[in-house]
Amino acid sequence: MNTGLGNNTTIAAIATPPGEGGVGIVRISGPDALGTAGRVFRRAGRGEAPAAMEAGTFAYGRFVAGDGTELDRGLCLVMRAPHSFTGEDTAELHGHGGAINLRRILRAVLDAGARGAEPGEFSRRAFLNGKVDLVQAEAICDLVRAQSDRAAGAATEQLEGKLSRSFDGLYDHLMDAAADVEATLDFEENELPARVLEELDARLKHGLDEVDRLLSTWDEGRLLREGARVVILGRPNAGKSTLLNALLGYERAIVTEVSGTTRDTIEEGYVLDGFPVRLVDTAGLRETDCAIEREGIRRAEETHRASHFALYVVDVSGPLEAEDETRLGLLDPGCTVVVLNKSDVRSPDFHFPFSEFEVVETSCAQGRGVEDVRRALTEFLERNIDRHAPPHAVIGERHRALLDEARREIEAACARWSEGGETRADLAAEHLRAALETLGAITGRAFHENLLDRIFSRFCLGK
Ligand code: GDP
Repeated sequence: MNTGLGNNTTIAAIATPPGEGGVGIVRISGPDALGTAGRVFRRAGRGEAPAAMEAGTFAYGRFVAGDGTELDRGLCLVMRAPHSFTGEDTAELHGHGGAINLRRILRAVLDAGARGAEPGEFSRRAFLNGKVDLVQAEAICDLVRAQSDRAAGAATEQLEGKLSRSFDGLYDHLMDAAADVEATLDFEENELPARVLEELDARLKHGLDEVDRLLSTWDEGRLLREGARVVILGRPNAGKSTLLNALLGYERAIVTEVSGTTRDTIEEGYVLDGFPVRLVDTAGLRETDCAIEREGIRRAEETHRASHFALYVVDVSGPLEAEDETRLGLLDPGCTVVVLNKSDVRSPDFHFPFSEFEVVETSCAQGRGVEDVRRALTEFLERNIDRHAPPHAVIGERHRALLDEARREIEAACARWSEGGETRADLAAEHLRAALETLGAITGRAFHENLLDRIFSRFCLGK
């Protein structure tokens, strides 16, 4: 257990991103936040010190080091427990942005008695003080990291509590079902009213449906959080790495004339027209004796299965290879665009017989046609992520893993229950209790310190 992160200390961190900016903020939270702020902030005029200021008010003044040297001028904002983000007394010192300036102010705050905060420690305190549940705390992280409007919208819904309410509803529903199952223990098997049995069946089924509904939001969640995975496929030397570089606009993969040098997969993220995209360059798809290259090809195929969209690059400087024909025959034209590359040296013997695919002609080495590839990609994303749908909360990886586990337990409860027999209620209740425990970990009804460590260490400093 990490006892070092107790709630009784006063913590501080720079809350704004490093670098230059108009304003930068040092945040202080904990029982002595206002006292600490008062040792660093000298209010202009004759107003009260932070500890005496009204909650939710700002004052203007100077920030000073321990020896009284002026560091900067700015504002001090005061919030009082429990009406603050962390639920504790909080002061924010708003100075001029800039890494050195803010570090100097933070140093003065630490000298005045605060401890430097761990990443995510403010949010962790918000959770421990009951201001947000774990799902809402995770939404803060998602919101900060959102790379598109839709992702930010989904995170806001989650922060507002929409997803938490779904999880809570499911939890309460299963709690009732578990209570009903346990109530049947008071009856002899053949005394149970038929209505009770039917209702219980329906309740368990409804629980499973709700788990499935939540699980069905996972794909969209992944698309929003991590971006669409776009895999670049094709034979060695077709120009995959050149295309990747052209799309990214800088040299990422080593472009080379030797076949099979891109042996591993290379992954790069960027934002295309507001959508996060992860481009994956694969090893050339070619039958080969070389073990390393075979491993690369195996990974390429695996990557392809895990991707949303494929760009299949064909070298048109010679006739279409039989291998390309075979590979293309296996691809889904609904989520593949064929890139006919090296059109600057196109062979008169090159013919492309697959009319079902969308085709883009490029000369990636010269940057020609790359815009058309981008456009095809954007159109695919537009088709698959409804930009105009109202924002709704979607589950994340941690929620999915726990929901999967809960689903198995609920299914087992259903199976035990419908098998009948004297012990069915005991066995079903046991599985339902396990499901409840798992679901409880999603919102944080039950938690371990190391679960909190895992969640909050993903946060940035000062959040
Ligand atoms: P990969 O093995 O599919 O990743 O292929 P590369 O991107 O490494 O490219 C293989 C070779 O083809 C390199 O020498 C590139 O310069 C060359 N190449 C790539 N695109 C074009 C193109 O549009 N036209 C021509 N003429 N050569 C290209």
